[in-house]
Amino acid sequence: MDKEIYLDANATSPVLPAAIAAAAAAMRDSYGNPSSSHAAGLRARALREAARASARRVLGAAGGRVMFNSGATEGIQTAVLSALCAIRARRQRGEACGDLLLYGATEHKAVPESLAHWNEVLGTGLELRALPVDAGGRHRLDVLRELAPRAAFVCTMAANNETGVVSDLDGIAAVLRESASPALWMVDCVQALGKLPLALGASRIDYAPFSGHKLYAPKGIGMLYVREGAPYTPLMCGGGQEEGQRSGTENMAGIAALGAVLEALEGGATFRSHSELLACRERLVGALRAAFPGIVFNAPLEHALPTTLNFSVPGVASADLLEIFDAAGVRVSAGSACSAARAAPSYVLDAMGVPVRRSASAVRLSFGPLLDDATIDLACAQIARCGRALALPVLAPSPLLDGQPQGLVQLDADGASGWLLFDAGARQCVAIDVPEAVAGRSAAMLRAAGYRLLASLHTGQDDRGAAALAREMDGAPGWPADGGALALGDAILARAGQDGARAYLFGRPQAGVLGPDQVRFVFAGHGETLRPDAGAQALCCRGETERALASLETAAPGEGATELDSAAARRLLDAHPDALVVDVRELREHSAGAIRLHGQAALNVPLSRLAEHAGYLAGDGARPVLFVCRSGARSARAARALRGLGHPRAWSLCGGIALAH
Ligand code: PLP
Repeated sequence: MDKEIYLDANATSPVLPAAIAAAAAAMRDSYGNPSSSHAAGLRARALREAARASARRVLGAAGGRVMFNSGATEGIQTAVLSALCAIRARRQRGEACGDLLLYGATEHKAVPESLAHWNEVLGTGLELRALPVDAGGRHRLDVLRELAPRAAFVCTMAANNETGVVSDLDGIAAVLRESASPALWMVDCVQALGKLPLALGASRIDYAPFSGHKLYAPKGIGMLYVREGAPYTPLMCGGGQEEGQRSGTENMAGIAALGAVLEALEGGATFRSHSELLACRERLVGALRAAFPGIVFNAPLEHALPTTLNFSVPGVASADLLEIFDAAGVRVSAGSACSAARAAPSYVLDAMGVPVRRSASAVRLSFGPLLDDATIDLACAQIARCGRALALPVLAPSPLLDGQPQGLVQLDADGASGWLLFDAGARQCVAIDVPEAVAGRSAAMLRAAGYRLLASLHTGQDDRGAAALAREMDGAPGWPADGGALALGDAILARAGQDGARAYLFGRPQAGVLGPDQVRFVFAGHGETLRPDAGAQALCCRGETERALASLETAAPGEGATELDSAAARRLLDAHPDALVVDVRELREHSAGAIRLHGQAALNVPLSRLAEHAGYLAGDGARPVLFVCRSGARSARAARALRGLGHPRAWSLCGGIALAH
């Protein structure tokens, strides 16, 4: 496995060694409760106050409150609760204070979600309104000018977590001042700490939340700045810590660690300067442009943090590029970490008017001010490797299947499977049951590789995917009108099936005839009986991902436990030196970073090419096969499929290579 290059600092950062040492020392030596009056308590209190004093200097906040809490989400809740309670009281007193809760359209979800939640809980009944941003991701000050007189509370982040776009806080302050807006103002400063100068005390900002883990402190520690005189309502009540304003015994290890980071910021020797960070970004931009010639950057670099790049490689889905980067050991993300699991298009890029096709390709690369030159050198080298991997042809004959010019690719989406039969020599292919969701992607792949689509077919009732692919390819025919077969190299695709049900048989005819023994693949809808048309060696390719590969004999998914943990995998490989370790990641991932498991190099058979290789992998049935992939999901499917095809000695590595040790 290649060395990990962590370029996802906007999601979270590693912990500064000095912060780890400070946390350990706090737990070991200053473990007292800072509320206790004995010496142990006094030591803890001194530690806490030293961290607070450092925070005040870093934030430029001699006055007001600087409170420790669990992180920015709590800080945001507290600020929203405080503002809404004050607004409610003002309204109850009949004072004019606006009826809008205005938040930047690109704010972290914690902001609009908290506004909606507390507006509902408190019954304030204010109107939530997103303040639009321009194409460069900056707040529309003209719209703010229009709405400011109606605004009761304004929330605008200092820098965006997905794009790095730095807000024009001076411009926003000027608009609020011009319009004599009485609105309270929160600025989410999470991504600004350590990257932008902060002078909160000299600003009009009422609330500023921070999270330690975005700048080399651990998770679970944060800060909230509250301007002197700004309304405040505690979110947590109890033991009266933080002068009764945020109860709960302090997270002293976290405070000590954050204190160490703040001290390092003050000292100026630990982190890289703004100009050095700009130079780092320049190098990464150069490497990205060289690796991906069509690359577009989704936010203007001159208005972005020097530590964040958001880019798209046209025609390449974010998920595909992320897998290639991950294989090369480069950890980046498609957007915010919170939305990574949902795979939804980015609302931040949507708000900037980035076309859907481009935002579907977006990748965020972010680093922290601790980045060193050796890591950049390695990152640039690995980015170049990713570029070379991306350029590899997906539709190429398998090097494992000697002299077989045709190939078969499985295309999955939302539980459905489709198939692309291709003839690499003549650059032509036939699509069967391609799911609608991947029709665009498939068409892009075919166009990029210069393939001609001979036919777009379907076996079941649902022809939407086939039709969508045909449309994407500017029209592709269905089955030939004369009813004859389609030729792909020296093989043919023939039509079969009874009673109007559609099925297709693929194989190399002998003496011009495709008899049952020559059929290699059968493409069939559910419940189709094909015994008379194909022999037992034929593999049935169906449209349902989990049951996509079936033998004509059993047509059932694999039974029994197929997953092995890392230790069990080691035992298997020790006991069976002849076992095959098979990397089922796609070819581009494999070539961006090959897998070695317990000293054994893995062979690459992408999951999408499993049908073609099923016979090769099963061999005579005696040799164990251990499938591996990134997270364990694709390899588990491969193992189940091979079991279902009658090979009992197929396993997968549980948790994938990420958990192997
Ligand atoms: N605000 C911004 C801009 C962020 O990037 C994040 C974290 O991603 C948050 C708020 C929430 O921070 P946390 O999850 O640490 O509470």
